[in-house]
This record gives sequence, C-alpha cells and structure tokens, in this order.
Amino acid sequence: MVISGKMIAALSRAVRNSSEERRFSHSVVRCLADPFFPIAFFLRNVMALRREVHFNRLAPRMQRRLLLRILRERSAIFLEVREWISKREDGLGFLTAGNEKPLPGGPDDYCSRCGWCCEIASGMPVFPEDSAVPLKWKNIFGDGLGKGHRFCAFLWESREAGGSLCSIHPWRSIPCRTFERDECEFLQGEPDFSDPSVEDRLLETGRWLIGLMDGR
Ligand code: SF4
Repeated sequence: MVISGKMIAALSRAVRNSSEERRFSHSVVRCLADPFFPIAFFLRNVMALRREVHFNRLAPRMQRRLLLRILRERSAIFLEVREWISKREDGLGFLTAGNEKPLPGGPDDYCSRCGWCCEIASGMPVFPEDSAVPLKWKNIFGDGLGKGHRFCAFLWESREAGGSLCSIHPWRSIPCRTFERDECEFLQGEPDFSDPSVEDRLLETGRWLIGLMDGR
C-alpha cells in the first residue's frame, strides 16, 4: 500500500512541531521524505501496537513519546544502511526509485513484496560466512531495534512500486533465506492477509497518529 504524499507531509509537520522531537526532527523528516523509507510498515507497526492492551493503557503523551522513539530509531538505522549501501561498489542498483527489477537471488516467482514475512521484531542472527553485513547489524537483527518495534530493522519499501524491499537482501540472514514458497503461502492464508479493510485501517491509523503528534 502506498501512503499519500499529503499524509506524509502532514505527519512530517506534526513530527517537526512535536516538542519532544525538535532535536531529532531533521533526520526523521528527511527519512519520511525518502522514497525507500518504510512509512506504510511504520503505520502497520502503530496499528499493531494499538491492538495491544499495554499500549492502550498509556496516556496519549506517553503513546506519543513511544511512537516518536520508534520512528527515531527506525530513521537512524535507515540512514545508516542507506549510507553503507550507497558507498558500496556492488550497491546492486536497487537504490533507484521505481526499480522493480527482481533482487538478485530473490524468490521472485511468488514474492508479491507484501513484507508480511518481515513482520518480526528480531530473528536468529545467523548469516552466511561471506555476508558483508557489519557485526553491529547482525546484532540488531538478533536483538531487534527495541521496545515497540514489530518489523525487521532492515525492511524498507519502494514507495513508487508500492511494495516491500529488503535493504540487505544480498547479505541477509540464513533464516530469511529459508523462508520460501510454503511458508509464504501459509502466511497468506492468515485472515488479515486478505481482509479488505486493512487499507482503510492503515489510513485511519495514519490520521490518528497525526492527531496524536499534533496534540502537543
Ligand atoms: S533481513 Fe530482509 S528478508 Fe530478513 S526479515 Fe529483514 S527485511 Fe525481511
């Protein structure tokens, strides 16, 4: 699902105005404007949290603080990975907006880039021996980004193509490589997967989030 530019602009404004975030808003707003930043998955993350009792018990001020922290942490790893990839000679060209070419070695015959298989806070940090991924990121993959994160730290999206993108796909973990067609089909059998109201709920989550951030 592609989040409209209007909604992203409203969210950026709300983050910039939020008193808690002034110090960090520049990098967060920069990420929100990036065509590869996983804004739809961030909203899915928020949607998941809103279903949780613990989150609902928090006062709006605390909910705002938690969500801003999640956004800040995701922005920080996003910028780090982006810089790393842009400096690599084998950057593999997947940092070009609109590039819908299959990623090398990807399960492209059945993968619809829904990103649901990457809805994991953390995974077994076992990587191929020749994986160039820095040790720090392997640890992040194993430990997750922290409290409240519901998606892999390395999940991006292609705003133009409207699907998910693994930012470390050529260097990804072994567990990620073993998730194949059978597992994918099983996941697609989940009731939420084909629920037509998901898109509406995601947009409602976006509006709710903008209101929460604006609440100052
Ligand atoms: S490393 Fe890539 S494939 Fe593995 S869970 Fe994260 S985004 Fe998905």
